[in-house]
Amino acid sequence: MRTRLSGAGMDLGDPSAFLNFLGRASGIVGAVMLLLAAALSARVPRLDRLFGGLTRLWKTHHLLGAGSLLLLMAHPLLLAMAQTTTSVEAATSLLFPAPGHWQIWTGWAALILMMVFLAPSFAFFGRPDYQRWKYLHRLAGPALILALAHAFQYGRTLPANSEHWLWLVLTVMAVGAVAWRFVFSRRIGRLRYTVQRVVTVANNLVELVLKPAGRRHLDYDAGQFVYLAPFDRELAAGYGEEHPYTLSSSPKEPVLRIAIKDLGDASRAIQAIRPGSRVTIEGPYGQFFPDDPPKKQLWIAGGIGITPFLGRARDLLKTGSPVDIRLIYCVQDEARARFLDELYEIATELEGFEVIAHYFYRQGPLDAEFLTGHVPDIIERAGFICGPTPLNQLASRLLSTAGIARKNIHTEEFELL
Ligand SMILES: Cc1cc2nc3c(=O)[nH]c(=O)nc-3n(C[C@H](O)[C@H](O)[C@H](O)COP(=O)(O)OP(=O)(O)OC[C@H]3O[C@@H](n4cnc5c(N)ncnc54)[C@H](O)[C@@H]3O)c2cc1C
Repeated sequence: MRTRLSGAGMDLGDPSAFLNFLGRASGIVGAVMLLLAAALSARVPRLDRLFGGLTRLWKTHHLLGAGSLLLLMAHPLLLAMAQTTTSVEAATSLLFPAPGHWQIWTGWAALILMMVFLAPSFAFFGRPDYQRWKYLHRLAGPALILALAHAFQYGRTLPANSEHWLWLVLTVMAVGAVAWRFVFSRRIGRLRYTVQRVVTVANNLVELVLKPAGRRHLDYDAGQFVYLAPFDRELAAGYGEEHPYTLSSSPKEPVLRIAIKDLGDASRAIQAIRPGSRVTIEGPYGQFFPDDPPKKQLWIAGGIGITPFLGRARDLLKTGSPVDIRLIYCVQDEARARFLDELYEIATELEGFEVIAHYFYRQGPLDAEFLTGHVPDIIERAGFICGPTPLNQLASRLLSTAGIARKNIHTEEFELL
């Protein structure tokens, strides 16, 4: 039976027409995904909550980017395969036309740029250097412009002018997002703060205390995160570079607190930031703790993943109402249990808050026996997990096996790549 695609007037029973249709469809869907990925890169404070937080939003952005690359790579191949039913020469000249056919060459240029800036995002190529990855990502702008020039030239698959309208609307969204990110957010999105104090928590961990330098100050919920850029000329690395950090303070404090562990060049250098120097803060982002969380909660933190819980516990202490929360704090040994004394202190003052330390070197990996031994009513609780990816995966599995529904298990990743 032959099927006709009415709008495009194609006979899909014919292999050549079918391949041609697939080629065009992969081009359109791939380009739409690319533009949507660009639109999602805006990072407008609080808007990320519509997507369940910035981490989730960026996962969607990555999936759209990866999907668009695969579809756009398939696009010329499918179109060329459709031509092979006529002749191999026809297929070759469709793929590699004379130099004057700029409409096709813009498509190729867009695709090559995409391969350059998107390939490092695939795990297959190993873990990229974050800053290099970020610079390469700037090729997305020229790639988008070239892809659109190509799409506007060939936009005749969908009925009437609808394809032009589609590109126009998506272009406005993508350009708006990029303009926010690189122009407006720098002018109106970033708040100026001054480093009031640098508290040395350990030899690889400081907690910065920041006070507003202008009239505007950050309005946030406990456990959210911000992008911080330091402007201290003496820093060995990371001057003016923005990095995401969770606020470890309570929103009820007049200052912001941010605990930073040295995990790379910039976070190592910031350990030596001087009091009095300037930083900018952009945010807040994320929604680790929902607006109206259930009363009975189980928190599982690993290493520096303690920061959202620290901020939340400090905030709950200020509120003073009784809670029903168990915090399992996973660290390698006693020496690495940062902020544990403060958390124990909060537990003595905040009714219903209990802190349980888990030491990997002595007790091995976190397991079901440890969890149910310390939290017998685990199945009645909502789980919140923040730590290194392997711990997040292990803990999510344990909570799920213990009977907590997936929708009640919330995780926060400190990795956005
Ligand atoms: C939502 C979130 C909350 C975080 N909260 C804290 C916190 O409270 N305390 C803390 O010590 N660390 C936190 N981090 C981790 C912190 O952002 C990285 O340790 C820091 O950016 C490392 O930068 P670097 O130049 O020192 O190291 P690099 O060697 O450049 O980076 C190490 C890794 O950090 C990540 N990273 C680096 N730069 C960025 C960036 N601009 N955006 C996103 N990821 C980046 C990458 O995964 C990279 O592979 C958080 C990360 C995220 C995503």
